Amino acid sequence: MNAIKHIALAIFLGLFVIGCGNKEEKKKEGFTYEKKQDEPKEQVEDNMTNLVISGNDQMKFDKTELRVKAGKKVKLTLRHIGKLDKNVMGHNFVLLQKGVDLMAFGIKASSARDTDYIPEDATNDIIAHTKLIGGGETTSIEFDAPEPGEYEFLCSFPGHYALMKGKFIVE
Ligand code: ZN
Repeated sequence: MNAIKHIALAIFLGLFVIGCGNKEEKKKEGFTYEKKQDEPKEQVEDNMTNLVISGNDQMKFDKTELRVKAGKKVKLTLRHIGKLDKNVMGHNFVLLQKGVDLMAFGIKASSARDTDYIPEDATNDIIAHTKLIGGGETTSIEFDAPEPGEYEFLCSFPGHYALMKGKFIVE
């Protein structure tokens, strides 16, 4: 009886292994196939870093440091969680090039009211910026993460750079 049981078990295991082997092969083929099909979409998702930062009516960002990996695409979403109008408590997100003095930029930007406090002659100072938004609004931008290093960001609405600023670190 025992011998028969063992033989039966051996056959069963044998079939099981063969079965699994086949399954795995099929799975692998399927996987390769699927991967090929999805490659462009996957690459975009893998390569995108989503950052969300909020500004409020107390003239503050909820984050003073943002981190991304070099070579990534960045999708940055700015949310104004306050209620005040953009003429009173407008917020934007401005990422400065390395070496640009934040305070000097803030002062220059405060007189650029016609262009929502983004100085027209300062495009070389800026890596990326959102538009100016008021309470309850949300806006997003996409840009390529710059070279590894430390950068600074601010809200360029007049006077806000004193409180609304932080470090943008590319690793
Ligand atoms: Zn602001």
